[in-house]
Amino acid sequence: MKVKKSLFSFSLEEMRDYLTENQFSRFSADQIFNWVYKKFVFDLEGWSNVSKKIKEHFLENIDLSLPKIVWNGLSEDGTRKFLTRFSDGQTVENVAIPGKDRLTICLSSQVGCAIGCVFCHTGTMGLKRNLGSGEIIGQFLSITKWLKENVGDDVRFTNVVYMGQGEPLHNFANVKQATKLLLEDKGIGLGQRRITLSTSGLVHQIEKLGDFPPVNIAISLHASHDNIRTELMPINKIYDLKRLFSAIKKIPLKAYRRITYEYILIDGLNDRLEDIEGLDHLLNSRESKINIIPFNEYPESAFKRPSPEKIRWFQKELLDRGYITTVRVTMGQDILAACGQLKSELEKPNLWKKEQIMA
Ligand code: SAH
Ligand code: SF4
Repeated sequence: MKVKKSLFSFSLEEMRDYLTENQFSRFSADQIFNWVYKKFVFDLEGWSNVSKKIKEHFLENIDLSLPKIVWNGLSEDGTRKFLTRFSDGQTVENVAIPGKDRLTICLSSQVGCAIGCVFCHTGTMGLKRNLGSGEIIGQFLSITKWLKENVGDDVRFTNVVYMGQGEPLHNFANVKQATKLLLEDKGIGLGQRRITLSTSGLVHQIEKLGDFPPVNIAISLHASHDNIRTELMPINKIYDLKRLFSAIKKIPLKAYRRITYEYILIDGLNDRLEDIEGLDHLLNSRESKINIIPFNEYPESAFKRPSPEKIRWFQKELLDRGYITTVRVTMGQDILAACGQLKSELEKPNLWKKEQIMA
C-alpha cells in the first residue's frame, strides 16, 4: 500500500511545486494554505475556490486526516490538557496554557522519549517513535479546531513550546519542517520569538542549530555540576557540561536574544549555594535567562519540591548575581498537565476532573 504524504507536512513552496508537477495551477497552493491555516477548514467541500480536479486528486493521493482528540481535561487554573491520537493508534498529550496576553500550546515531537531523565514521567516510557512533521502540525490544528468549536471561534494560539513528549532535536528534520510551517506567513504565521524549542542537550544536534529557523532555544540544564546532572539525565554521561557549553557557545544568537536555561529545582539535590555558584560559573548573565521549575511531583516520583521559601531564596541569589530569573508557575497540577508530567496513558482516571470527553 502506498503511504500517502500528509497535507500538513508540505511547505508552501513544496505545495506549489507539487501542484505544478501534477499539472495544476501553482497559485492554488496559496488558496489551500488559506483554507487550512487561516480559516481552519479541513473539509475539502468547503474549499470553494479550489478546483474539483485538485480535490479529487487530493482525496486519492494525499493524507488529509488530522490527529483525533480523544480526551480533554480542564484544570482549575484554566490549563487544558488533551490526549491526541494518531492514525496508528499512538497517542501524545498536549497542553493549552492561557496567559495574560497569550495562549501557548505545548507540542510533542515524539511518542515517548529515549533520553530517560529520571525525574520525567515521559522518560519512563522509552521512545516509541518519531512524529512526522504533519503530525506535529496536526496537533496544533486539531487542538485549535477543538477550541474553536468548544470554547470560542476567536481562540488562537500565539505561542508554541516544544515541551511536550520527546526530545525535539532527536527528530531534527521533522521538527525543523514543522517549525517552518509555524513561521510561514501564509501558513500559521507565528513570529520567531513566539516559538521555543527545549532540548535536553543533544550536543551533536545543537551544533546543527545554524541550520534551524532562529527560534528561542531553551536548554534543560537542571544541574551545574556533572555528578548531579548525570544522576538526573543519563545524556550527561555522553555530553557532559563542558561539551554542552562548547556547543551552546556556537549557537548563532540574534541580537538581544538570550538562551533560556531550565532548572528543575529539587529538594535537597540541586538547591544549594554551591549549585548557584556553579550556575554563575557556567553562565553569562548577558546571554542567559534562568527559568526555575519547581519539581512537579507525580504519583511514585522519587523527588520532592523545595519549600516556597527555598525557591524564593534560590531565585534571589541568582537575581543578585545579575541573572534574569523567573520561577515557572506550575499550571495544571490538579490534572497532571504541567510539562514533564505528560504520559500517554490514563493510569489514574480519578485524578482527572471535569469535562471528560471520550471520542
Ligand atoms: N525533551 C525536551 C523537551 C520536553 S521536556 C527537554 O527535556 O528539554 C520540557 C521541560 O519539562 C524540560 O525542561 C524538562 O526537563 C521538564 N520536566 C520534565 N519532568 C519534569 C518534572 N517532573 N517537573 C518539572 N519539570 C519537568
Ligand atoms: Fe525526554 Fe525531556 Fe523527559 Fe528528558 S525531560 S526524558 S529529554 S522529555
